[in-house]
Formats: sequence, C-alpha cells, structure tokens
Amino acid sequence: MRRIAAHYLIDRSQLIARPLIELDDQGSVVSVGEWERLDNIPMTEFYAGALTAGFVNAHSHVELSYLRGAIERNTGFGGFARAIGQVRGNYTMSQRLSALRAAMAQMWEEGVQAVGDIINDLSSLEAKSFSPIMWHNFAECFGLNARIEGVEELLSHSAELGLKATLTPHSTYSLQDSVLSEIVSREELLSIHFMESEDECRLYQGSGSLHDWYERMGWECDFLSHGSPARRIVNIVPRDKKLLLVHNCCLTEKDCQLLTEHFTHPISWVLCPASNDYISSLRPPVELLRKMGASIALGTDSLASNENLSLLDEIRLLGDVPLVEALEWATLGGAKALGMEDQIGSVEVGKRPGIVLLEGLCIEHGEPHLTPFTTSRRLV
Ligand SMILES: [Zn+2]
Repeated sequence: MRRIAAHYLIDRSQLIARPLIELDDQGSVVSVGEWERLDNIPMTEFYAGALTAGFVNAHSHVELSYLRGAIERNTGFGGFARAIGQVRGNYTMSQRLSALRAAMAQMWEEGVQAVGDIINDLSSLEAKSFSPIMWHNFAECFGLNARIEGVEELLSHSAELGLKATLTPHSTYSLQDSVLSEIVSREELLSIHFMESEDECRLYQGSGSLHDWYERMGWECDFLSHGSPARRIVNIVPRDKKLLLVHNCCLTEKDCQLLTEHFTHPISWVLCPASNDYISSLRPPVELLRKMGASIALGTDSLASNENLSLLDEIRLLGDVPLVEALEWATLGGAKALGMEDQIGSVEVGKRPGIVLLEGLCIEHGEPHLTPFTTSRRLV
C-alpha cells in the first residue's frame, strides 16, 4: 500500500486541494480523500505540486523517432511528406531502434500511461512488448496502390508479441475507396489523419499541391466524387464506428457538424499543435471544437515533426484553454479515444491510472497555469 499526498490534484477538470491518494501494490487506486494535518498520517509521501492521472498520447508514430531534427521546420504539408521520403533511408536499424527506445523511456518517465501509436513497419514492436506503457497500435494502410494484405504482417506480429493492434486508414486522400471500405468494415476503432492541410479539400476540387503532385506522378483517385474529405467519411464509414480524427487544422464548422451528426459515438478530435506548428505554422481549431462541445484528446505526432513527445509542451501551444481542461484532454480525453477509460485517465477508485507530479505550476485565484519551469514526472 502507498499513500501519496500533495498540495493539489488536477482531475476531470477540477483543481482539488490537499489530496490523499491510497494505492495498492499494483498501482490501483484504493481511495481518494483529503488530508488535514500530514503529521497525523503515518507512511505518507508528500509532494509539493499537483498530482494528475498519467497522460494519454492519442497520436504518435514512435517508430519515426530517429528522424528527430532531420526535417526542417515550415516545409509545408507536401514538402514534409517529400522530405521524409528523402531522408528515411539514411539510418541504420540500430540507430532507429535506439532512438525509439529512448523516446519510449522518456515518455514513461514524464508520465505517459498509454499511446495510440501508428505503425507502418515492425521496428517498434519488440521494444513495445517490454514497455510498461499501454499501446494501441494502429497498423496503417497508406498509399493509392496500398492493399490490406500489405499490413497483415504488422497485425500478426503484434498479436504474436501480445500487443493490441488494429487496422486503420491513413487519411481520406491516400487510399482508394475499395480499400477504405474494407478497413472500416473490419474494424471498430479507426484513427484517421484529417484536414491537416487545405490541400486535402482542394484535391477533391481539382487543385492544390496534392492534386498537382498526383497529376505529375500519373496517380488516379477513385474517390473524388464524394466531394470533400468529410463527405467521404460520412458516405463510407458506418455510423456506429468509433473514430479518432487527427489534426483537424482546416476543419470547418459545417464539416464538424456533418461528422458529429453522422456518428453515434462521440468523435475524438485529436489535436497535435506542436506538429502543426512545425510543419506548416497552422493551429488546430481549439475554439471551434470547444464551442461545439466536442471530445478532445491530445497527441504529439512523431519526432519527425516535433522536438519532443511531451504532452505538457502540446498544452503550452493550446492558447487560452484553462489548464484543468487541457489536462483532461491529455488524460481522460485520450483514454476515451482509445477505449481505455475504464482503466486509466482519471484518479478514481479501481483504476490504475499512474500518478504524475506536476512541479513548477503557478496558481492564481484558484486557477493553475503552466510556467516555463513546469515539469512532469511519474510517481506511480
Ligand atoms: Zn500522424
């Protein structure tokens, strides 16, 4: 049994003073109470700062960790995709493995409990099988000539290692309709890169850099008659599927409404502000989604388009969102997105959420804020 006390607990959008949390040897929460005088409670660890549940990184590509610093900022959407293709072959497998192991270890230390991780190759799987982090691997189907058979190996190898993995489509501009339809009929949970750039919409109108690139390469799309990325999702994805839509920088209110009305489960809108800033200086539609009462989660994307995999740094880029709310997106929001909310995401009796300490916060008029000195570290 472990007893942990602190100045504050930030949980489910609440700032709670003087928390006292009891956990069993497996890290399950046994009770959540309040302390009055610490010298009365034997065997209690006290921390100066605020506790929170472990974080959930709802969108990452940990296998791309070796590309940290390899691609310039502000190349734009098309430039980024081309640059990845150019530098990918310059690294040995041993460099790739040490980069992803280091990134995974740092995520755990900083308090990440679970990750929704996109996989396009086998490189990260063995390390994940030894990692204490909970992984949902999205084996991604990518490319206008892609077929599902091409990613079956990712699923079978994950299963052999006891890792959770499901098939997912990359986006609404990189797969033909027959493949997209087959994936969505097979899987319940889908993670789709969505409206990261205006070019996704413009492709359907016959313009923009994606359209020009496809035309130059002689690639044809069988899906442009849907009219827009949002329409394509509504036309193809059955309403009872659970969806993570990732990025959403160029989402309009109309499309948000169209998608929200189509699905019976709330869509998880996953925001990756540091990556958007890195690639194209765009911002995710934080205010629109808050206004719509949407379910929000946070992700870091990969180290190819981010300087680190820190959810605190993502929160720093969200603008004026109250910290208690942003922390809910970084914990329970992500847990709901990955269907793990019964186990993690909040400090509630029976869950094993991990306990993370935030140090260096500033608290003014009962409202916590991050400072440049705020850090997070795992206690449990
Ligand atoms: Zn991504």
